[in-house]
Amino acid sequence: MKLSSFGQKLGEDAGINSLMDDLGEAMASGGDVVMMGGGNPGHLPEVTDRLQAIMKELVDDPEQFRRLTGVYDPPQGEKKFIASLVELLNQEYDWGLTTENVGLTNGSQSAFFMLFNMLAGEHPDGSHKHILLPLAPEYIGYGDAGLTPGLFRAVRPEIEELGDNQFKYRVDFSQLEITEDTAAICVSRPTNPTGNVLTDGEMLGLEELAREHDIPLIVDGAYGTPFPDLMYTEASPRWTPQHILCLSLSKLGIPAARTGIVIADKPVIRALSGVNAIMNLATGSFGAMLAEPLVRSGEIISMSRDLVRPVYRRKMESAVTAFREAMGDECPWRVHKPEGAMFLWLWFPDLPISSLELYRRLKARGVLVVSGHYFFPGLPDEDWRHRHECLRVTYSQDEADVARGLQAIAEEVKRAWAQG
Ligand code: PLP
Repeated sequence: MKLSSFGQKLGEDAGINSLMDDLGEAMASGGDVVMMGGGNPGHLPEVTDRLQAIMKELVDDPEQFRRLTGVYDPPQGEKKFIASLVELLNQEYDWGLTTENVGLTNGSQSAFFMLFNMLAGEHPDGSHKHILLPLAPEYIGYGDAGLTPGLFRAVRPEIEELGDNQFKYRVDFSQLEITEDTAAICVSRPTNPTGNVLTDGEMLGLEELAREHDIPLIVDGAYGTPFPDLMYTEASPRWTPQHILCLSLSKLGIPAARTGIVIADKPVIRALSGVNAIMNLATGSFGAMLAEPLVRSGEIISMSRDLVRPVYRRKMESAVTAFREAMGDECPWRVHKPEGAMFLWLWFPDLPISSLELYRRLKARGVLVVSGHYFFPGLPDEDWRHRHECLRVTYSQDEADVARGLQAIAEEVKRAWAQG
């Protein structure tokens, strides 16, 4: 079989595919594996119970069950969910949305694929436009979502040392270059992989640049406000017609329902719905119908704030404590200030081995993490040592397992230093 450029780029060479295969194989090999590599949400019994009750109502009501299984939704998505969400967001934030500002997709991952390729790549005037990622490291899932090469340009951050083994990445506005070939700016907030939450000031700075250059600011809120609200710091949600805000139901606990939500200016939603119709005919109704009662009542917000967020916050705090105890101060280490999401981003300055080698040694011990070097899509600066000195560790799963995994990381880092 001879694959096209598209087939090769997405089907064979994509970094995310080899990473997922690698993690999948390690899991399938059985044995005692500590899984700190993926992005699966934790299991929260209260959330599961509530979803199960709604599901039962849907299944028991013939009319609802027919809508759930027997009807294609319009390409923009399930109408009742969209109407309820618009009402909720206007009530909470006064964003002045109408139903034409919201589109649903099969997971937010597919929304990014459609948006990036709708905006960047070849334009009818012959230009080739790119998406600017103003703060690397960024989400690995963007890197492979371009149909044409060179779709992303990323910028190195400023690194602020906070003391107490913590640091924080900041947008280096002096290095941001927006040209006539910049199609959009994109950030995840909170950021996967670092748990960073860009400050309100940084967000306003990016918004100003977007407005000045008449391009959208794409904000990936897969972990953000208003749901699942995995935020452990003060940060204001914001939407204007300049923004394309992407939300997801996945991290609330239903990744299998594959429901992404895009909130944007009407022409963006119209174009997105057109692309969605070609790629998917319709978005699946399942997630939207399951979550609609929670959105209509506003429960999705209280559930996120009062139930989901505290669980992850506790997991984050106990992971940081466990790692601090395991590392001590024998050799250099830092953790990115964990302000959101479900990851610790560990940095080992001057480590004698690469993060990829550290990942391999941990995998041999049955501890799965992700080497940090994957998370720099669009950053040409291969020689920047920092990108080979970091690990992403997911803390969403069982706390005792996470502590065991963190202990193994500390041991391997100390061994690497001892071997020199
Ligand atoms: N954005 C970020 C930052 C993510 O971490 C993920 C998944 O892990 C996604 C988007 C895509 O999530 P989904 O397609 O499940 O909505």
